Amino acid sequence: MKMILLDRVTKTYQRNPHAALERISLHVDPKEFVIVVGSSGAGKSTLLKLLTREEKPTAGKIIVGGIDYDKLRDREIPLLRRKIGVVFQDFKLLPGKTVFENVAFALEIVGMSNREINHTVPRVLDIVGLQGKEKRMPMELSGGERQRVAIARAVVRQPKILIADEPTGNLDPKHAWDVIRVLEKINRYGTTVLLTTHNQDIVNRLKRRVITVKDGKIVSDRANAEYKL
Ligand code: ADP
Repeated sequence: MKMILLDRVTKTYQRNPHAALERISLHVDPKEFVIVVGSSGAGKSTLLKLLTREEKPTAGKIIVGGIDYDKLRDREIPLLRRKIGVVFQDFKLLPGKTVFENVAFALEIVGMSNREINHTVPRVLDIVGLQGKEKRMPMELSGGERQRVAIARAVVRQPKILIADEPTGNLDPKHAWDVIRVLEKINRYGTTVLLTTHNQDIVNRLKRRVITVKDGKIVSDRANAEYKL
């Protein structure tokens, strides 16, 4: 089974005649680590939004984690969201909550007991290297630490896929690499990772599969690829 399958997917937005994505086909295996690159406006965000079901395709087939999006009902979308964790460039943490509470929140909303939450949150904070920082507020953390809180929150329900959309965009190189190492660790634990980045150094040193999107099309898809602007 493929973890992600797109078959000739086209996305055209309203009031924009130019297709954001045009007949894109893509297969991603379970446990793969895939980097998506492309200049601004190429279609990367649209691709990610189709996967999270924030947007629906105009044409084509999408199957993620065995879920055929054509058969997906609205009430099943929360189930899909549990299979896909997402982190963003701007972290999107709850500023009035501690590190622990930010991560715990993702479990509270699915009805997990306090006992289980108290057991689970420290384990995931440990994985992202934030043990001992449970009581800090987001403002009291570095950007790299904030992003690692966001990653902890995204993976605490053990999604099959982690989508990281420019997670290092606001970080200096040292903190960027801390975040990338955490993504690699989560991938080693068995989660499929989809990363978008403009950071050439990260792409070149990770030596992973690189998919290049340009003008709504996949123009290259290579293993161990380097990235030239
Ligand atoms: P990227 O993430 O690579 O910068 P996007 O997926 O955001 O690219 O955009 C791809 C194309 O789709 C661009 O031409 C953009 O202007 C257009 N686009 C994106 N979102 C919308 C929208 N909501 N409505 C109309 N056009 C959009």
